[in-house]
Amino acid sequence: MNKIKNYINGELISPLSDSYIDNYEPAAGKVYSLIPDSDERDINCAVEAAVKAFPVWSVTPAEERSKILLKIASLIQKNLDKLAIAESIDNGKPVSLAKSVDIPRAVKNFEFFATAIIHFASEAHIMEDKAINYTLRNPIGVVGAISPWNLPLYLFTWKIAPALAAGNCVIAKPSEITPMTAYLLSELCIEAGLPAGVLNIVHGYGHKVGKAISAHPDIKAITFTGGTKTGADIASIAAPMFKKLSLELGGKNPNIIFADCRFDEMLETTIRSSFSNQGEICLCGSRIFIEKTLYDRFKNDFVDRVKKLEIGDPNKPGTEQGAIVSKQHMEKILSYIELAQEEGGKILCGGNRVNMDGRCKNGWFIEPTVIEGLTHTCRTNTEEIFGPVVTIQSFDTEEEVIEKANCTEYGLASILWTENLTRAHRVSAQIKTGIVWVNCWMLRDLRTPFGGMNSSGVGREGGLEALRFFTEPRNVCVKIEDGL
Ligand code: NAD
Repeated sequence: MNKIKNYINGELISPLSDSYIDNYEPAAGKVYSLIPDSDERDINCAVEAAVKAFPVWSVTPAEERSKILLKIASLIQKNLDKLAIAESIDNGKPVSLAKSVDIPRAVKNFEFFATAIIHFASEAHIMEDKAINYTLRNPIGVVGAISPWNLPLYLFTWKIAPALAAGNCVIAKPSEITPMTAYLLSELCIEAGLPAGVLNIVHGYGHKVGKAISAHPDIKAITFTGGTKTGADIASIAAPMFKKLSLELGGKNPNIIFADCRFDEMLETTIRSSFSNQGEICLCGSRIFIEKTLYDRFKNDFVDRVKKLEIGDPNKPGTEQGAIVSKQHMEKILSYIELAQEEGGKILCGGNRVNMDGRCKNGWFIEPTVIEGLTHTCRTNTEEIFGPVVTIQSFDTEEEVIEKANCTEYGLASILWTENLTRAHRVSAQIKTGIVWVNCWMLRDLRTPFGGMNSSGVGREGGLEALRFFTEPRNVCVKIEDGL
């Protein structure tokens, strides 16, 4: 069976424990490869290699670093089909989605930060006749990156590309549930000529490898994407050590639909914002609020369209809904569907596990599910489910929907549908989320700040925010004796 390896000090090696974790193909419900069960000792080796590599990598001219990162981008592009198939097998998402979204975005992440670093400028502050201040921005040193399973290579590269571009050495840990494309990336990094120790990828469990990254004294900053509880665990170890932290956490995003929206476009986008990647995207709009006058029309057309979504083998070109990432996660989602019914919700469509035929007969599939009749404060409407489950609720006034939309501990993203420009601006300014999409969803400009408020995280990633996070600013104040 295919054994994934750690990438430490430029080499692909086995974990020191020499033990492995089963890696499942969700669509088939069976083990198809093995993941290193690494621990603190492997992290120590990786950090040692990174510390050794840092003095050279941090002073390698930005243009040289950029060239290597662009080479990695072009190798990901060259291997797009292979990586997309690997991502689909590992995660359960349709191959078509991995080909059109996940892997192209991994290419863009490297391209974006490889070119951004060449144009990255630091500030100067002039005190007229007294002094000139300028800001030096040096790489931090060795930094950690911990990523989740839902958009594996997409989010992994979103973290490591800016860290490397800024001149840091990186210890990265992909999710143990979807490690394959990070492993394939390590092969491409070797091919691209990335110097040994600059990037180290250590596989394994969060409570071993992730925890060792959080606790290692030589890792000076951590970028993490994943669940809110895990973010709090990491912060409890790293914050007292005064590590820089960027935490991108869970969400429970509202999708607010006013009656004056462009209906057809809204409906098609709402299908995507509800069920893309089986609803396993932190930005999916899982609470749909519809203005009362549009409610019945929306409900009929939406449910009709959801029932037609093609659930099937992620390998097949026509499949729109693939498998849920793990058995455990499938059971969690099904338990929330049960809870919704206990809370008085009515299932309008879906609600069940799907039993497939053929090679997917033991796979983990759930019907896309739409629920109505719940209060906005119930657990189903305030806790993150992270699957193909949405609720629909009606509202009368703008004030009412803003209050209901803001009624969770989360604050990641929101979606707003209206043709009234003044209202769009007014509501956008009052929704407590780090990202507001008006008449669109997942339209991403990589220069914009990305991240959430409250329990959805701390800090922003993307564009200059990421390069600022991965550098240490130092102000130099030079007194001017005779003025400028
Ligand atoms: P998770 O928190 O279980 O795991 C994320 C990563 O953290 C994995 O690599 C895991 O091994 C590691 N980890 C687990 N325990 C750890 C510990 N104690 N110390 C250090 N590392 C540890 O999350 P998940 O289930 O992989 O991903 C789903 C979650 O991610 C959802 O809540 C989703 O909303 C969130 N998410 C957020 C964003 C965002 O941008 N805000 C994007 C994608 C996913």
